[in-house]
Amino acid sequence: MTEALQKALLDLKARQEAGEQMPCPRCGRKTMKPILHTNALSRHADGIYVCDDCGTAEAMLVFMQNPLPLECWALFQEERGTTDFKAVIGEEALKVIRAEHLPRLFPLFEQWKTGVADFRALRTQALKECPELTQLWAEPFQALYEVADGEIMIRFRTTAGKIEVAIDHLTKNK
Ligand SMILES: [Zn+2]
Repeated sequence: MTEALQKALLDLKARQEAGEQMPCPRCGRKTMKPILHTNALSRHADGIYVCDDCGTAEAMLVFMQNPLPLECWALFQEERGTTDFKAVIGEEALKVIRAEHLPRLFPLFEQWKTGVADFRALRTQALKECPELTQLWAEPFQALYEVADGEIMIRFRTTAGKIEVAIDHLTKNK
């Protein structure tokens, strides 16, 4: 771990312990519960709390022996613009995603599938080409969009050499 990263983690830990309300440092979403220690303790960043979803994801990735590198945590990503779909309902956002984003994400997924591409570079490119994208994960390769009425999760996979996507629109009020 680099010194800068270590310092950033210590700073984060202090802010969390001081009770600062902040997004989940791992996924960048506003999914943290107000009482810090009721969230999940990260398996990778000592003493750092992440949201329950990320806690579950970390456990799964540990099982798959493929943790998300700390450098890929939302907190450590470059500052990004405020472009997003948060004012757009999922149905409308999906039209843009299907028409514009999927054609851009497919080649990145293909590069990722080759096993030689650096995920961080792919992720940076994805966020640049699809500014409304909230998050992209490597294993499994999936994209998350926050929209006005919930979240859109898109999972990528290949079947018989063809890319397929599974799109889930998770609405807030179930
Ligand atoms: Zn999280």
